Formats: sequence, C-alpha cells, structure tokens
Amino acid sequence: MMKLTDWMRRASFRIAAPEKLKYNLIVGALALVHSLLIILFGVLRVLPLALLNVCSVAVYVSCLISIRKRGMVIYVFCATYLEIIIHSFVVTICIGWQFGFPQYIIALVPFGYYMCYAFLDRKRRYVIATWMGLGACAVFIGCRGLSAHLEPLCALEVPRAVEVGVYCFNAVCNFGFLFMVTAIFVVEIQSAADRLQSQNAVLDKLASIDPLTGLYNRRSMQLFLEQAREAEEKESFCLAMCDIDDFKKVNDTYGHDFGDCVLKKIAAIMEQRVGRHGYVCRWGGEEILILINGGLENACQIAEKIRCDIGSYGFRVRNQFMYCSVTVTIGVAMHKSGDTVEATIIHADNNLYHGKRHGKNRVVSLEGQKS
Ligand code: GH3
Ligand code: MG
Ligand code: MG
Repeated sequence: MMKLTDWMRRASFRIAAPEKLKYNLIVGALALVHSLLIILFGVLRVLPLALLNVCSVAVYVSCLISIRKRGMVIYVFCATYLEIIIHSFVVTICIGWQFGFPQYIIALVPFGYYMCYAFLDRKRRYVIATWMGLGACAVFIGCRGLSAHLEPLCALEVPRAVEVGVYCFNAVCNFGFLFMVTAIFVVEIQSAADRLQSQNAVLDKLASIDPLTGLYNRRSMQLFLEQAREAEEKESFCLAMCDIDDFKKVNDTYGHDFGDCVLKKIAAIMEQRVGRHGYVCRWGGEEILILINGGLENACQIAEKIRCDIGSYGFRVRNQFMYCSVTVTIGVAMHKSGDTVEATIIHADNNLYHGKRHGKNRVVSLEGQKS
C-alpha cells in the first residue's frame, strides 16, 4: 500500500507545457478513432457499442481538458490504459474476435513502458510497466478464450468484406498508435542523449578551465604537455613561465579585487598574443605557463610582445581616476628531444628567477639554467 501511494505521488507530476503537444497527439488520435467507431457501429446498428464509443470519446475529451489545464499525468495514463482494455474486451465479447479489436491491447505494452519510463524512477518503472504488460497480455488471451467459448452477444450479420475491412481499419489504427508511441520514445531518447552530450561538454570545459582567468588549468595543461612531448620529433616546442612582478604590492596597495582584475587582463593579453601558436595555462597563483609551438626565437618574440603589451597597459583603478602599471618577468626554455617536460619546466622557471634577480620586467632564455 505504501508503495502504491508513493508511486501515485511520483506519477502525479503535472504535465509540463512542452509535453502538452505529445499528449494531445496521442489522446487526440484515440478520440478520433473512437469517433469513427461511433459512425461505424451506428451504420452497423449496434447501438450499445456506439454508446460505448461515445463514452470512450468522453473519456478522451476529459483527458484533453485535463492536459489543457496541465492535468495530472496519472489520470491521462490510467484513463487511456483502462479505456483500451475495457473497450477491446467488451467489443470482442459483443461482436467476436474476428473484427480485430483486441489488437489495441498489444499496443498497451510499449505504451505502458513509455509512460513508466517517462514518469517513474528507475526501480519502479520496469516493475510497474512489466505488470501492466502482463495484465494486457492476460486480457488479450482472456478475450481469445472467451470468444472461442461464447457466442457473440450481438452477432453481426455482415458480408466478409466488411469484417475484413473493420479488421484492417483496426490494424491501421493500431499500427499508427504503435508508430506514434515508438517515434515519441525514440525522439525523446535522442534529445536526452543530445542534452547529456552538451552537458558533458560544459562539464568538460568547467573541469579544464580556471574560473577566474578563463585560461586552461594545470590539469589540462598536463595533457597538452604530454601531447607536445609525444610529437616532439615532428614539432619542437618551448615553455614560457611568467610571473607578475611585485604582485603582492599591487594587492596590498589597490586591493585583492583589483589584483584579480589585473590577473584577468594579463591572461587575456597572453591568450590574444599566443593565439594558435600554443596554450596558455594558469599554473598556480599568479604564475602562468605558456606552451609555444616552434623554436626558441619565435617563443622569445611572442614572450617579448606579451611583456611589452602588459608593461604598456594602464590598469584602471576602480572608482579612482588613476592608472596603475604592472610588469611581468618571463623565463623561456626550449624543450630538448629526450628531456622530460618537468626538466623543461624547471629550465623555464630558472630563467624566470634569473630575470627576477636581474631587475624583473624582462624575458630570459638562457641555456644551461637547468638546475
Ligand atoms: P615577485 O616580483 O618576486 O614575483 O613578487 P611578488 O610580490 O609577485 O611575489 P610572489 O610572486 O611570491 O607573490 C605572489 C602573490 O600573488 C601573492 C598572492 O597574494 C598573489 N596572488 C596569487 N594568486 C592571486 C589571485 O588569484 N588573485 C590575487 N589578487 N592575487 C593573487
Ligand atoms: Mg609568484
Ligand atoms: Mg610575482
């Protein structure tokens, strides 16, 4: 009992606006089929079945109203399921198996799985859908057994062609219903897969980017370094280790927020200068590591441009009519085939500290600074 109430609570989600079209399509199609059956049974003068179909149309109209008013899924689901079961059963008992009305019961299997998939949690969806499918199967076989033993309650005296015609009409409607449910299912699975893919792309990006500067983080840089080292025979590369000069003073004088803005702007300048020539990464704190494809001369030229751009940039202090200038020191090292990437990083780092010791605001690319 507990489980049933829990299931009802979960399944009583109201129909969201984008879902309306789908439910309108399914329920509208069913209402249309029953409207045609009213005409058919009217023409065949089987009044009880014409009335039964009037009731069926009323059920689906109430479903349409419920969908329009963002009604509960559980009502639409149960009403459709029960209506199809009762209708197929009653019509088969009344006029016999040969008109093909029990076919609709078969469509309840994918319909049940679809509804349970869409609205129930993983554990319950299979159990409930399977029970509903087995229920539909039992009714189908029951219909066959009863119609084999009982004479139809309102036996129809119609030509064979009419019998086959009604059977084919039911088959076409049933296949249409199956196509509709399956197509909706496939489209939804596809759009869920697409959504997942784009969410993964966003997560991937978040996991590889430093949130403050928008530069690659250390984790993604390790991958680029690894790739560059694997391709070192084909293409040489250099590493440039950059450190902002006297950044502590900048923070102390103008505040940490201003320091953040400086860091962001410096990152943007570096990215713009490096462009397609390599990758810029926030290595840690205010240290930025740049992987530059190509030889030492090209790397030093890019590093020098970065140094000049930053040195000549006026960082506007917020709420004050003054500009502050900031400089960077950059140590550049060329990766030597056979060396580890770590050795090249140490080499670049040593060049950076050589620059720091010799006045800052410079690019240093000395050989033999490995330790
Ligand atoms: P040096 O010229 O020798 O590099 O001097 P420095 O003051 O820059 O010294 P150091 O590189 O050791 O100091 C790093 C400072 O950078 C300390 C820390 O407060 C600051 N810093 C590190 N990360 C951030 C950050 O994300 N935002 C801000 N605003 N400051 C940071
Ligand atoms: Mg530092
Ligand atoms: Mg510094």
